[in-house]
Amino acid sequence: MTVKRTIRQLLALAVCLEQSDTPLLDCQLMLAHVTGKSRSWLLSHDDLVPENCVRFKFEEMVRRRQTGEPVAYILGYKDFWRSRLSVNSATLIPRPETELLVELALEAMPDGACKVVDLGTGSGAIAITLALEQPDWQLFANDCSSASLRMAQKNATGIDNLFLFRGHWTEAIATHSMDMVVCNPPYIRANDPHLDALQAEPPVALVSGDSGLHDVQLVIKGTRRIIKSGGILILEHGFDQRDAVQDLLKDQGCVAIEMFDDLNRLPRAIKATFQ
Ligand code: GLN
Repeated sequence: MTVKRTIRQLLALAVCLEQSDTPLLDCQLMLAHVTGKSRSWLLSHDDLVPENCVRFKFEEMVRRRQTGEPVAYILGYKDFWRSRLSVNSATLIPRPETELLVELALEAMPDGACKVVDLGTGSGAIAITLALEQPDWQLFANDCSSASLRMAQKNATGIDNLFLFRGHWTEAIATHSMDMVVCNPPYIRANDPHLDALQAEPPVALVSGDSGLHDVQLVIKGTRRIIKSGGILILEHGFDQRDAVQDLLKDQGCVAIEMFDDLNRLPRAIKATFQ
């Protein structure tokens, strides 16, 4: 006979997730998923005994998490802004810090017709959020990976002010056509030890040459060509890249350069106007 386990006992499997920074949260999210209940419901009913099939599914998820697979890939989704986005191992998992780019983009442009492109959209997080928040904007988003584009397309179902297309950064985008460019490029150095903790995610979405700035350079140069005069670039960057990115923007004659920290108070985003 199978031993009965209460919700509290199942959540206690968090002790097995030694390599996670957030073991209890991980277990709560996975058990919430398999039970179809919220985390707060689980905590207020933690003496209940879930059905065996729920328990087996949950234990399988804990085993996957023990191998280092991120919770978002195990669940198949990640919440970002107001949306739940499907993700798989072809896409970068949207980070809470990237919501800063959305906030800055929403503040930077007026309501009403304007053309905005999200370069390297991955799961579509930035473009989809902007399209939903500003239905009068015309959003474009590209990615060089067709697997990512398929995921973005799935997430964008029913959104009619967003056009997704395959492409590498600014290639294939018309000259002086965009009012705003938003981009979260890969920016981690190839030999950065932080990469050890990110092995499940696609390297193409994380790593950018020995300096970490290879793609940032391409995006800034390419933006000069596709942006309208007076248009704005909003770019995410590494915590130690602020000065280097600012210099690259100045080299392109940008003005009104503003810099922003993320929720952890680390330098994370930059906004600049192209003349
Ligand atoms: N911010 C991510 C991280 O450091 C990396 C994402 C990226 O390179 N754009 O985990």
